[in-house]
Amino acid sequence: MYNWGLERKIKSYELSGKSVSRFDLHKEITHELKPEYPWLKDVNSQSLQASITNVESAFTKFFREKTGFPNFKSKKNATQSFSVPQHYVVDFDTNKVKLPKIGWIKAALHRKFEGDMKTATVSMTKTGKYFISVLVDDGKEVPESEPFDADTTVGVDVGITHFATLSTGEKIENPRYLKSSLGRLKVLQRRLSRTKKGSNNREKARLKLAKQHEKIANQRRDFLHKTSHRLASENQAIATETLNVKGMMKNHHLAMAISDVSWSEFFRQLKYKANWYGKTVLTIGQFQPSTKICSVCGTVVQGLTLADREWSCQECGTVHDRDINTAINIKKFALQDQNLITLGQRG
Ligand SMILES: [Zn+2]
Repeated sequence: MYNWGLERKIKSYELSGKSVSRFDLHKEITHELKPEYPWLKDVNSQSLQASITNVESAFTKFFREKTGFPNFKSKKNATQSFSVPQHYVVDFDTNKVKLPKIGWIKAALHRKFEGDMKTATVSMTKTGKYFISVLVDDGKEVPESEPFDADTTVGVDVGITHFATLSTGEKIENPRYLKSSLGRLKVLQRRLSRTKKGSNNREKARLKLAKQHEKIANQRRDFLHKTSHRLASENQAIATETLNVKGMMKNHHLAMAISDVSWSEFFRQLKYKANWYGKTVLTIGQFQPSTKICSVCGTVVQGLTLADREWSCQECGTVHDRDINTAINIKKFALQDQNLITLGQRG
């Protein structure tokens, strides 16, 4: 449906230079497509219409942001999904979900919610697992941000050797199980490459590999959720540094480690959780010299390389752990930006 809508819009532009509205497309679905393809009647008509709405949003985004012309969807996409805008039922007593034209389905409902149910999205992963996510408006106001100061703010430096280092001196390790899961991933990748295209063994190997990818993604997500939840609950403000993740991904040695720790996702979670709990995320620019400055006396050090994990200040003699010093500076810069501390004050 999405691809059909996209093609209709492209053709219309090419032929007449005019846009065809989603209402026109809805009419075409009812009066032309359905008579020609009766199986379309087996599908919830609002779900069909939602696909057309998605095409339209993709175009709106393209025109507004001038990037990424809408793509055709493929059966090979990692996740397959469709929307159910209305008329579905979630029954917490029997653990079932009722979808229009499909009926009641057994489900593992892991969290009870109350509020106005908006669009539900049904998706299938590469390993054939089905999920339904329900958007709910609970009507609650987002809390106002609580005040913070130097005592209730934590600086966070994310890195390769440790997932994150805090201005308190604590280092948060990358979970070990991720490493062993990644080792297993390599084995499965090699096995898949040895199978013949189109063979049964290849399909089996593909499924095993997809399951391993899914396992790693789940482990990673779980770790990121726990860590972002903890930081947002324990502090009034969290100071971070803008990361040039795209630029860093170009460096091959770092790429694997970075995609593994998924910093962008971590910061995304940190921001929305802070928002939920009335906390504040402060971000300093990537050009502020958080690594190369002594957090005790403010001297800029010369000739520090990525390999230097520890160094001593030429001026005041303090011996620094590179990452802890960076985390303290991130906190300092962020608080200076807020005019909450003045230069030279200790973090
Ligand atoms: Zn110093």
